[in-house]
Amino acid sequence: MRFIMALYQPDHYRVLGVPVGADARRLKEAYHRLSRVYHPDLRGGSRLATERFQRIAAAYSELSDASLREIYDRKLVLMDPLRMVDDPRAERALDRIDGIVGRLRRRPKALPGRPRGRDLRVTCEVPLAVAALGGSWHVMVDYETTCATCDGVGTVQPDRNPGCHVCMGEGHLKVGVRRQRQVCGFCGGRGEVLLAPCDTCDGSGRVQDRREVAFNVPARLGAAATLRVRGAGEMAPRGGIPGDVIVATHIAKHPLLEPRGDDLICQLPLSWSEATCGCTRDVPTLAGLQRLRVPAGSWSGRELRVPQQGLLRRDQHRGDLRYVIMVDVPDAISEADGAALRSLESQLGMARFARRARYETQLDAVAAADRHDRAGERVRVAGREGDDSPPAEAADEAGRADVSPMPKGRAS
Ligand SMILES: [Zn+2]
Ligand SMILES: [Zn+2]
Repeated sequence: MRFIMALYQPDHYRVLGVPVGADARRLKEAYHRLSRVYHPDLRGGSRLATERFQRIAAAYSELSDASLREIYDRKLVLMDPLRMVDDPRAERALDRIDGIVGRLRRRPKALPGRPRGRDLRVTCEVPLAVAALGGSWHVMVDYETTCATCDGVGTVQPDRNPGCHVCMGEGHLKVGVRRQRQVCGFCGGRGEVLLAPCDTCDGSGRVQDRREVAFNVPARLGAAATLRVRGAGEMAPRGGIPGDVIVATHIAKHPLLEPRGDDLICQLPLSWSEATCGCTRDVPTLAGLQRLRVPAGSWSGRELRVPQQGLLRRDQHRGDLRYVIMVDVPDAISEADGAALRSLESQLGMARFARRARYETQLDAVAAADRHDRAGERVRVAGREGDDSPPAEAADEAGRADVSPMPKGRAS
């Protein structure tokens, strides 16, 4: 509607409600009469009244100046020659022809049936647990509904809205040589000029509403699926069938559980003592928080597997939930604490660190083989020449790991 109104080229004579040949006195009369209806001061500054008054004033100022009126009339002849004739009989004859042509051209009526409301499209993030196992979820949907204040009419004071004098209350005009119907730009097609619009909907007769719509999520929901909630869409006018709500779903990223195939992985950071002595920790599952018993001697990388707690598989069985132990260490500790730790370690003896001890043994074997193969040659560990990528150790977020040639000891 706004778009049509923007295109509307005011026909000054119609805006003033006078015939094309009207003399100066008649123009003046019309202008004064309409000013009393639309003057913003009399309409409490109504936006619509102001706009309409400006059109009327513009039309009058152009038509009341003889030379401007002559130029305007010439343009009007080009635009709409029949307007210049302004003979009601000619218009009536054209209307009759229009009617006959219209009847011949009329398309078959739409299939009988009740009107259907619009479908509404929304997007929704579904939590991982609901997406994996199925269940009920909900989404907020914005509706456009009939304004309850004015019952969709657009005003609660119908007698304060004058009938449109431009289209004579028809809501449309016939323009051009082919007498095409055009929505009346002065009243926006209402047939009356809305000088007292409804406060709630500003005259549109429609308001926005927001409602929660629940829907069922099937188990094993795909990463991006579309679900249709029948009858939850916009209501049809005059008691028709409501439309649907079409929900485009995305699976919300879980902060701790990461799907991998049918399994779920959770990194579980433990302190030294927790990893060494064992502990009980709260852990996330698809069914909420649960307590997990971590056995003593849980090294970094050890996986604790809870069977049948992962994602639902096609065969209705479920994958596993895997907690991967990660031993966390302080960023920095004091010298005294470091000394205490080292003393504790030497007290235990390095042999108690089974995986470290195994590594040492294997490293000795590697060193021995190297010594044998390339006696006298310096062992290069730092990667190929010209290769800038970090050698051996993967770089972590703190930066590159460094490997330097062995000074003495093992290799000798
Ligand atoms: Zn309203
Ligand atoms: Zn109108």
